[in-house]
Amino acid sequence: AGPDFNEHVLHKTILVGDSGVGKTSLLVQFDQGKFIPGSFSATVGIGFTVSTGQHCRLCTWIWDTAGQERFRSVTHAYYRDAQALLLLYDITNKASFDNIRAWLTEIHEYAQRDVVIMLLGNKADMSSERVIRSEDGETLAREYGVPFLETSAKTGMNVELAFLAIAKELKYRA
Ligand code: GDP
Ligand code: MG
Repeated sequence: AGPDFNEHVLHKTILVGDSGVGKTSLLVQFDQGKFIPGSFSATVGIGFTVSTGQHCRLCTWIWDTAGQERFRSVTHAYYRDAQALLLLYDITNKASFDNIRAWLTEIHEYAQRDVVIMLLGNKADMSSERVIRSEDGETLAREYGVPFLETSAKTGMNVELAFLAIAKELKYRA
C-alpha cells in the first residue's frame, strides 16, 4: 500500500550531510521535480510542507540547513524535534562518505533515540567520477542498521522513493 494521503500528523524531516553533497538540490528535485543548479541557500532557515490542498501528499515538514554544515555548526536544536533524517554523502567525494560516521555520532548524541534514518549516496548520475562503490554504502548502512539508496538530485533517480520510504517508516511508527 502507498502512503496514506489523508494522514494529518505532521512530522519534521531534516537533511544532514557535508556541504556540497546535494541536500538542497535533492529537496528542490523532490519538491519541484527539477534540478536547479546553484539553488543552494534557497531554503535558508525555512522548512516547508509538500501538502497539496487539504490532503497531505507527504506528511512531513522537510528542513534544509542554511549551509551551517560547512562550519560543522549545525545546531543541536535542528536535530532535537526531528522524527526523520536523510543523511547524504556524495559518491564522488570520499571525505563526504568518511564523514558519515561523524554525522551519525552527532545524530546519536542529539537526535531523538527513535529517529528514522536513511542513508543516501547522492550524485549517482556522475558514474565516471564515482569513488564510493554502492557496496561501500550498503556495508556502512548495514553496520548502522539503516536503509540505503543511491540517488541523483540531477536525474531524479530514487528521490521520490527516498522521501516516500521515510514517510512510510514514519507512518508505521505513528
Ligand atoms: P548542499 O550543500 O548539500 O545543499 O548541496 P547542493 O544542493 O548545494 O549541491 C552542491 C552542488 O552539487 C551543486 O553544484 C549542485 O548543482 C550539485 N549537485 C547536487 N546534487 C547533484 C546530483 O545528484 N548530481 C549532480 N551531477 N550534481 C549534483
Ligand atoms: Mg544546501
